[in-house]
Amino acid sequence: MNEKALFQLSYGLYVLTAAREGKQNGCIINTAGQVTNTPNRIQIAVNKANYTHDMIKETGEFTVSIISQKADFELFKRFGFQSGKDTDKFEGFKGYAVGANGINYITEGCNGYISVKVEQTLDLDTHTLFIGPVTDMEVLNDTPSTTYTYYQENIKPKPQAPQGGGNGKTAWVCKICGYVYEGEELPTDYICPLCKHPASDFEKTVR
Ligand code: FE
Repeated sequence: MNEKALFQLSYGLYVLTAAREGKQNGCIINTAGQVTNTPNRIQIAVNKANYTHDMIKETGEFTVSIISQKADFELFKRFGFQSGKDTDKFEGFKGYAVGANGINYITEGCNGYISVKVEQTLDLDTHTLFIGPVTDMEVLNDTPSTTYTYYQENIKPKPQAPQGGGNGKTAWVCKICGYVYEGEELPTDYICPLCKHPASDFEKTVR
């Protein structure tokens, strides 16, 4: 069995937003899709560790903003690499508007949004699958949607080369955000300071 087959699946990227008691929050997901068309139903799978997960569980509503190829890395940092538990991800951010359901949708770096009312949930251990009909949706522009592959190749910053050219030293590069850890060995319990992904998401390179 070759687990790399999973990498052959194509994924889009989305800002998933929810609102509860006046607080707006959002996170980045790659697990959204249309599952029926009469009516139009959308499914999302959300990690239970995400603050947005709890907000959707309680309110039964969410909006998926579809990230386009014009999105910059800052959008991923803002919504993907910090937790809404201890930050206001919308602070100082102007690239959004309020949808008919009262939930912010993202206008910056996104080409459309879809709002959903949750009809069914399925417990999947680490994640919850939320499924429901579309309550509102709009196209924002015609920039193509990004895929995870496009993000990896074009949006994520390229690791910075060491000053003065290659030095032959070993470094570890985070595959998610491009952060570089200089050092021969990466501690097994290391957590990326930028995107919070574990040591297993780092790749060894010689600089
Ligand atoms: Fe990272």
